[in-house]
Amino acid sequence: MDVILLGTGTPMPHPHRAGPSALVRAGAANILVDCGRAVVMRLAGAGVPPQALSAILITHMHSDHISDLNDVVTTHWIMNPGPKRLRIYGPPGLRAVIDAMMAMLAPDISYRIAHHDDLNAPPDLEIVELAPGARFSVEGCEIAAFATDHAPATPSLGYRIERDGAVAAMAGDTIPCPGLDALCAGADVYVQAIVRDDVVRRIPSQRLQDILDYHCTPEQAAKVAARAGAKTLVATHFVPPLMPGQEDEWLNLMRPHFQGEIILADDLTKKTIAK
Ligand SMILES: [Zn+2]
Ligand SMILES: [Zn+2]
Repeated sequence: MDVILLGTGTPMPHPHRAGPSALVRAGAANILVDCGRAVVMRLAGAGVPPQALSAILITHMHSDHISDLNDVVTTHWIMNPGPKRLRIYGPPGLRAVIDAMMAMLAPDISYRIAHHDDLNAPPDLEIVELAPGARFSVEGCEIAAFATDHAPATPSLGYRIERDGAVAAMAGDTIPCPGLDALCAGADVYVQAIVRDDVVRRIPSQRLQDILDYHCTPEQAAKVAARAGAKTLVATHFVPPLMPGQEDEWLNLMRPHFQGEIILADDLTKKTIAK
């Protein structure tokens, strides 16, 4: 199983960090988790075009995690030579968001159907709204949804993806909570959004201070990883953006609390779980 961080950024624009998204590849499965800014470019960088996706999992409906879902849907639709269903899983509320997104795409869909004789149906989407505890399978991968805590962006979900004994825990944006501990229990790879509270507290902006309410600090992520017995912690979604040369600052906040491997992800960082 490969876990590839496609985008490691946040809503803050950054030239080298696309919006939040990750790809889990195992066997024939290509599972996309979230669809942030430039996700289609990063999929191309990973060698997996949108038409090769098996399913999309959405953690929550904050704009940075879904801003380019429309690009994934359109590219999946027009690059497939024939009709191909695309399944999108996420928390309740997903259907309304996608219905509105499809309304935005309606003119484009009508132009393309009018123009191409071999394109005569709109994108075939199957939208599945999940409650915590839901289990389903995608091309040989067993997936379970867990409640995370990212209020007021509720409900939010993390996804545990398993195949042949390999376990990836895709937590998304959350603070520590019982669902997060369960999601990560014994995981080979635990992917977590982190925000530096020590830096953000020094910035005189209430809007920035507010983001501390619903994200893990580096210390908290490391403690979750240790408590859950995860083998590798992959940090992403860095606030402030992680700059070259600052890696030790971030790692020094985490290492006292977690003895396993810690990876500070860049876009297209890949962690292979050899099982
Ligand atoms: Zn969020
Ligand atoms: Zn986010």
